Amino acid sequence: SRAVGVLALQGAFREHAQALRRLGAEIQEVRLPADLAGLSGVVMPGGESTTMRRLLATRGLDTALCDFHAAGGALWGTCAGAILLARDIAGDSDVPGLPPALGLLDMAVQRNAYGRQVDSFTTPLTVQELQAPFEAFFIRAPAITRVGAGVEVLAQYGGQPVAVREGRLLATTFHPELSGDDGMHRLFLNLL
Ligand code: GLN
Repeated sequence: SRAVGVLALQGAFREHAQALRRLGAEIQEVRLPADLAGLSGVVMPGGESTTMRRLLATRGLDTALCDFHAAGGALWGTCAGAILLARDIAGDSDVPGLPPALGLLDMAVQRNAYGRQVDSFTTPLTVQELQAPFEAFFIRAPAITRVGAGVEVLAQYGGQPVAVREGRLLATTFHPELSGDDGMHRLFLNLL
């Protein structure tokens, strides 16, 4: 099926839904495990990963999303969503009682890695499989500090990966829904 879910607990989910609809996908907002039925992929948006982790755990969506992936579903995490996918997360040791994230993608991330003063910026990226440079919006973005041997790096910035793919998992540390360019969304639909 071409039905795609957008995790709609918090953050920039509406813009993702709009981009995917422009490409002809049928959209389901995901708030509970039952919303995953019949979907082929789910986008996890940018926002605040610690808030999302609490909401995912409270609703049983953490386990449900891992089961969804194991059963053949594709997942794309953007910014906070990429943090949710990462196996190792640095930079949240100050948050007590935080439930674990999904930990599915073999990479390590550092939250809020681009400093306080310049914590938001845009830059053109060369992305593998996209024809034109992609204008990427980084908003209090994490850095990908390690990737496993099975992880493909699709784009880099400042010598570090910013778009990676491992099987049916895609992670981007920027906000592709803000670019007015549906290239990254097309790349995700190609995984389904
Ligand atoms: N700084 C946020 C976090 O750590 C991510 C920012 C974003 O998604 N734009 O969760």
